[in-house]
Amino acid sequence: MKIYLADLKKEQGNYISYHYLADSKTVKLESTGFCLEEPVTLHVSAAYNGRDLFINGNFKTRLNTVCSRCLSEFSIPLEGDFQEKFNHQKKSEGQEMDSEESYFQGDAFDVKALLQEVLFLSLPLKPLCSSHCRGLCPVCGSNLNLEDCRCEAADVDPRLEDLKKFFEK
Ligand SMILES: [Zn+2]
Ligand SMILES: [Zn+2]
Repeated sequence: MKIYLADLKKEQGNYISYHYLADSKTVKLESTGFCLEEPVTLHVSAAYNGRDLFINGNFKTRLNTVCSRCLSEFSIPLEGDFQEKFNHQKKSEGQEMDSEESYFQGDAFDVKALLQEVLFLSLPLKPLCSSHCRGLCPVCGSNLNLEDCRCEAADVDPRLEDLKKFFEK
């Protein structure tokens, strides 16, 4: 998944389109709680003006994950656009790198690392199987999307319960 500067230089600053299909061997999502359900379709267009590399991209895939409320597995579509600029650094300029600016070195740009980064940033923090997900009962652990438990009826403060008994006497 590399973009070669030599190809872009021939185009003299015009954009070239690239299409990739990245599977789970390429994109690593372990430790994020998500996994790829289908390969990522990636469309990228890139241009190079002799100093900066401009990359516009769009990715699309489906992920499998666990609902943060009810803990059941479900799949969600994930899609996003990105626009990046990378300053081309010659090796000798290594010491003066501006940390504010993204940069790359060498004759080719690896799209893999960029895709990995934009995917990470677009992952939902609290994935929900549905916006109406009722979650798990905090008392008995039942999945309230699937069944109604009777815990709510018993959910009375024990001190009030004692008071009630006192007045009933
Ligand atoms: Zn849920
Ligand atoms: Zn319950």
